[in-house]
Amino acid sequence: MTTPLPIPEDAEARRAVAPVICYPNETLPKPDLGLYQRARAGASKVAEVIVPARDAACFEVAAGQFFRITSIEGPQVGDLNLWNRADITERFFSGKTRALHGTHVTTGERLWSNLPYLRPMATVTEDTLGWYGIDAYGGAVHDVIGTRCDPYTGNLLQGGHYHHCCHSNLTRALADHLDLPLSEAERHVHDVLNVFMCTGFTRDTGQYFMKASPVRPGDYLECFAEIDLLGALSACPGGDCSAEHSSDTAACHPMLVEVFAPAPGALEGWESPPRNGYDRSHGR
Ligand SMILES: [Zn+2]
Repeated sequence: MTTPLPIPEDAEARRAVAPVICYPNETLPKPDLGLYQRARAGASKVAEVIVPARDAACFEVAAGQFFRITSIEGPQVGDLNLWNRADITERFFSGKTRALHGTHVTTGERLWSNLPYLRPMATVTEDTLGWYGIDAYGGAVHDVIGTRCDPYTGNLLQGGHYHHCCHSNLTRALADHLDLPLSEAERHVHDVLNVFMCTGFTRDTGQYFMKASPVRPGDYLECFAEIDLLGALSACPGGDCSAEHSSDTAACHPMLVEVFAPAPGALEGWESPPRNGYDRSHGR
């Protein structure tokens, strides 16, 4: 057996070393927000979907269109999954999105796809909760640190079988939309963008926390689809996530998803991003 090293004499000095950003993102390709805004100004609505409370619904957005998620009726958090509409093995990668942009996303930041694709699936173009910033607890809105509420964790912690966690809602919605068995659809459900959810990590224990979302009916998050997308949004059983999820206790509300198509020619000069340029030879 080896003896553990003693705590170093310069422990405080080691703790005091300044952090460096893991992924400086100045070299990320920048979205042309001006072009997107001009295209959006002349866009017209082509579809809308109401997501019922404690349930999920799918929607499709063509590359070059916009989708808007709006709080209606009451404060409500939504769990968002995104897939490449033509190949659902390409899907939203919350972990790398977090590594590139931070724990929460807002206007100008992008939602990236998993490996081996790693390209922007969507760009956030408008966020009416952008005013919130980072509060005194370290909380912020539109979280990419959480996963999605699910019945397995609920079973682990409390026992029981609750069927309206976001994981199950997204599974049913995807199964219905693509006519897949539940067990097949479930494998494609992934960690989410928690739209409107206000979260952070406690400073003393490093635990994931949530608090009442500041969202009010009329608030929305809008994104530009960089590739053809299939989306699914679950109106979380946690409602505004001020108290608990994974039960029917919280007040829950429906949510609205709308899709807008720009006028022909409005995106002159824009191209849907290709798959990541790495040669995929992995050293062989
Ligand atoms: Zn949820």
